[in-house]
Amino acid sequence: MLSRLKWLGNAHPNIWRSQVNKNCKFVSTNKKFGASHTQGDVPNLIHHHEHKYAEGKIYNGFLCEHVEHISDFELTSYTLRHQRTGTELWHIDRNDANNVFSINFRTTPFDSTGLPHILEHLVLCGSKNYPVRDPFFKMLNRSVATFMNAMTGPDYTIYPFSTMNETDFRNLQRIYLDAVFRPNLLYLDFLQEGWRLENEDIHDCNSKLIIKGVVYNEMKGAFSENSQVFSQNLLNNMLPDHTYGYVSGGNPLEIPKLTHEDLIEFHQKYYHPSNSRIYSYGSFDLTKTLWLLDKEYLSERTCIDNSYSQIPQQQRWQQPRNVHISSRLDSMGATIDRQNQIAIALLMCDVTNLQESFELNVLSEVLIRGPNSPFYKSLIEPNFSGGYNRSTGYSSDTKDTAFVVGLQDLRVEDFTKFCEIFDQTITHSIENGFESQHVESILHSLELSLKHQSPHFGNALLFNSTALWNNNGDIVSNLRVSEMISSLRTSLRKNKTYFQDKIQQYFANNTHRLTLTMSPDALYQENFKRAESEMLRQIVAVLDKEKFQNIYQTGLELDAFQKVKPNTEILPCLTINDVSEPPKWPKLIVETIQNVHTQICKVSSNEITYLKCLFNATSLSQEEIQLLPLFCTVINNMGTSKYDFREFDKLVLSKTSGFDFKLNFIENIRDAKSYKISVLMDTHALDKNAPELFYLCQELLLNFDFTDTDRLKMLIENYISNISVGVASSGHVYAMLGASALVTDASNLKSRLFGIDHIDFMKTLVQDNNTVDICKTLKSIGKKLFLKNNIQVAINTTESYLATALQHYRNFLETLPSLDNSKESHSINLLNPSCQHYILNIPVNYCAKAFFAAPYLHQDHPKLRVLAKLLSAKYLLPVVREKNGAYGAGAKISSDGIFSFYSYRDPHSIKTLDTFDKTYEWTRLEKNIDQEALFEAKLGVLQQLDSPIAPGNIGIDYLLYAVSQDMFENYRSRMLSVTVDEIHDTVQKYLKKTPKNFGKCIIGPENEELQLETNHKWKIIS
Ligand SMILES: [Zn+2]
Repeated sequence: MLSRLKWLGNAHPNIWRSQVNKNCKFVSTNKKFGASHTQGDVPNLIHHHEHKYAEGKIYNGFLCEHVEHISDFELTSYTLRHQRTGTELWHIDRNDANNVFSINFRTTPFDSTGLPHILEHLVLCGSKNYPVRDPFFKMLNRSVATFMNAMTGPDYTIYPFSTMNETDFRNLQRIYLDAVFRPNLLYLDFLQEGWRLENEDIHDCNSKLIIKGVVYNEMKGAFSENSQVFSQNLLNNMLPDHTYGYVSGGNPLEIPKLTHEDLIEFHQKYYHPSNSRIYSYGSFDLTKTLWLLDKEYLSERTCIDNSYSQIPQQQRWQQPRNVHISSRLDSMGATIDRQNQIAIALLMCDVTNLQESFELNVLSEVLIRGPNSPFYKSLIEPNFSGGYNRSTGYSSDTKDTAFVVGLQDLRVEDFTKFCEIFDQTITHSIENGFESQHVESILHSLELSLKHQSPHFGNALLFNSTALWNNNGDIVSNLRVSEMISSLRTSLRKNKTYFQDKIQQYFANNTHRLTLTMSPDALYQENFKRAESEMLRQIVAVLDKEKFQNIYQTGLELDAFQKVKPNTEILPCLTINDVSEPPKWPKLIVETIQNVHTQICKVSSNEITYLKCLFNATSLSQEEIQLLPLFCTVINNMGTSKYDFREFDKLVLSKTSGFDFKLNFIENIRDAKSYKISVLMDTHALDKNAPELFYLCQELLLNFDFTDTDRLKMLIENYISNISVGVASSGHVYAMLGASALVTDASNLKSRLFGIDHIDFMKTLVQDNNTVDICKTLKSIGKKLFLKNNIQVAINTTESYLATALQHYRNFLETLPSLDNSKESHSINLLNPSCQHYILNIPVNYCAKAFFAAPYLHQDHPKLRVLAKLLSAKYLLPVVREKNGAYGAGAKISSDGIFSFYSYRDPHSIKTLDTFDKTYEWTRLEKNIDQEALFEAKLGVLQQLDSPIAPGNIGIDYLLYAVSQDMFENYRSRMLSVTVDEIHDTVQKYLKKTPKNFGKCIIGPENEELQLETNHKWKIIS
């Protein structure tokens, strides 16, 4: 989807980095409860700001160079520089419990071996003070971090974490700093994380050699995701002259050119303190950080000139360029003739030119966002594609920023049409300018996002600043967003053709323009395989007998190395006392207002009123329920009987955050015998705009309009294109949905609403029905849904505004109609065991196994949740990831009681399912489940339970699941009191015998041995 212009609203708003170029150590999923909803903390605002450090003074070897208070975000920025090494440290003092620490290095590779990426993995594999195998992964279980990761971008490598616990903060800080400055970089770790040759059967020196390695498989997976391949190529071809011309994550066919020596050299050069930038955010004492840095890591080092890693500006082209690439034919995607993509990218300005870059970002949004923008009108509305592709937007993640607009799922014949329309749109915009209300609604969205409290503000600020910082930009001035907005407003007022002039300069007269096209090739995967085996053949051809023997021996050595029980006791760990207190949130007030269940929460929300309306959809027919995901996507895009979709969009965006509709599947968490389906409408607005907020809600809910069938047809086609993108990158989620679908009929329906089956369902629906009929059904859904007797409401607002908000709310309720429809819930039935394999032409697998255990309020649920964490850390990751080379693996239990195992970007499938099945045997081995493992698992669960919640989201568990604060605290303390014996009893009860109801699911390439080797009958879906 299109990246919206939000300052700090989203941690990764930009295209290039968020797609292929940032490769993470692991995929973090922080979920507190069954449903996904963003969590955040409640930053209390500081209203008086005394400066803690003074400009010109020295603190533990750091000179404080600049202090500035930024009122937009109620923070004080301190820029400090280590005198000896020149290391820059940026501290943001803000009254926010969710503290962040990060260190990043400017890393500029000159090949595509994935050097910085593999190094990123390797530095986290053990260091001087912490010579533990993979301390990073071990610390995941010894901390209550709210975020912990490492990423490789196109020109930097970054190591960030956040936590609300100060002991934890200091622990992680020590681990991270030791990791980056004094890593062990062992050869065996290089083989495990990077790449290696190994006998297919490590105990048979005559078995054939294959290539293995965590990053090797990670990138094979990344290269099979078409939208990632597209954005990677966009970057490489747009900025070809320097480091951006290479794949920093690693091209699988280049990775085997990398040696261990290259890696050590690269570390010495780029991980020098003078080439690093350190960030700290929050309320913890900075002095302790400065002391540690100076004493342990910096005082003995020297200062070097870091200009070797500086990135020069890209030389502007004299002529536009065209590049064509091929992609994997996606069996889940559109028909082959439509599976093409195109984009035009234009190089904009230097990222350090703050005001210019800011204005170009706003201008880009004006050009592409929403039904009132020129590109939407000219490219999307004629409906010859599947909508904007994922690269569309303004990107400021590189030295030179860029504007990209592209389409997905179009015909090759339409490539020319796209280019013609592009030029016409630019000409038309220069001639006619923009409607001021449209520009105003874009600026309003930006201003609103400044006030909106994001749950991970400190992380968002870091990610939004890193590219600029690394290019020596002024990160502090970049925070003065209000000033930039008002300066832009002044320019727009003074010069009526201000934006038009910019379009002339940056769009019409710009010869640094790339047109990238991509078409599927049925042989893509086969060609890759052939290239891979040819590469392997060449590597093997030059091996002599001794080298073969060496590989065999090393394989055994690595296997033994991986089997050694890690000496984790040298790693710091929290104690039970550090985590005994549950987080405190403001109390919910529950009232019945005009017979409507209403929950109210007084929060410090920074002058914003949040409104959530939950509509019970249980009484809809099966046919209607199947259409709910589509309904949620289109309902706010069709306009109303009073305002057409363009008018409505303008009104909504100039007064509110927009309306977000989401389908929720809510199982009974007491007995798991029934479920409800509901639609959540989520919106917010500045307090002063609350009357308009309620008015627009009322307008939409009462007067929604499905008469424009052409528009609906277009929205449906774009919707189908969008749901097909990203199956391969979130394959484990789809695999778990697929496996759960075989356990209960409710989960089966869930898979048809959210899983791979949904894609197929939507395609068939469009083939078999005309749009007029679909319109009718959607209309009938709205009529049955938006009723007063069908709604539950949550209002989160500031204390001072509450009375006014409630007055508007009452008026709003009075307008809603009532109708009798009393179906409360559907029953859930368990299914017989079965297995299914979705054939996808990708080179890796996603495997899952699911069975029914116990729902959230059952006494066993906390035990199972701890068990799932324990199995992930102590059994599944060591075997499936470290030993067998998958990128990720784990176990989890959801609130509906379904326990799942999964693997991510996995070279195996049968072997992995076998590992899942052998869990019980593993738990029988002595000492696998000890006190330490148990406590670590509890911390892992706490990371989810105690994760911060944004002011607007406090109380969401109560709204959706009726989980009260007391129930939550009770669950939390039961979880903390689980004993080793109880875990063993739980294992006996749930894992000893083959469960009565289970499902297995594989998403991955064809596999002829499946039936034969698993003793199961597999349903093959291709
Ligand atoms: Zn990685």
